Amino acid sequence: MTARTHDLAAITALGALVFLEPLRTFTLGTALMAILFNQLGGILPDIDQPTAPFWRNLPIGGVIGRVIDKTLGGHRFITHSILGVVLFSFLTHLLLTFLHPIIPTVNIGYVWWAFIIGMVSHLVMDTLTKEGVPWLLPIPFKFGLPPLKEFRITTGKAVETWIVFPAILLLDVIFCASHYRLLVLFVHQHLI
Ligand SMILES: [Zn+2]
Repeated sequence: MTARTHDLAAITALGALVFLEPLRTFTLGTALMAILFNQLGGILPDIDQPTAPFWRNLPIGGVIGRVIDKTLGGHRFITHSILGVVLFSFLTHLLLTFLHPIIPTVNIGYVWWAFIIGMVSHLVMDTLTKEGVPWLLPIPFKFGLPPLKEFRITTGKAVETWIVFPAILLLDVIFCASHYRLLVLFVHQHLI
């Protein structure tokens, strides 16, 4: 999947969970940090791809991307597995624990879960593509849905652009419309 589909899927997964299990209270800082880390988790698995937007936006990103690509075993390897989710979640937890004294009002537990949700949503979305995902590394088998490759999505092609992306967007509109009161309440509590 392309970066923009991953970004949208990550925030949709986060929104869906927040709507299904409304959080008691959380600060605006927590919400903003959660969105930021959710988006990072949503694109992080593709750091193993030198051409990823993540690297393209950095001055010598292409070079760093190639080194990271080799280190992580190539595209759709460790960052696209449960092992990778555990590893990067652990590293993110270390980072958040380090940041906590600087941002004491932010609930780092929520932010951490937002990151994990973003990362897992990336793997789920990539599972729908022709390449599949090696969820159970070091077992090198790539899983895909549906099991027959022919019925899966090709990254960046028409089905993703014209069906998958608009469908997720529509889901967001439905979520927001059906939880309008919750959204208004949050905006009133924190932004006005
Ligand atoms: Zn990916």
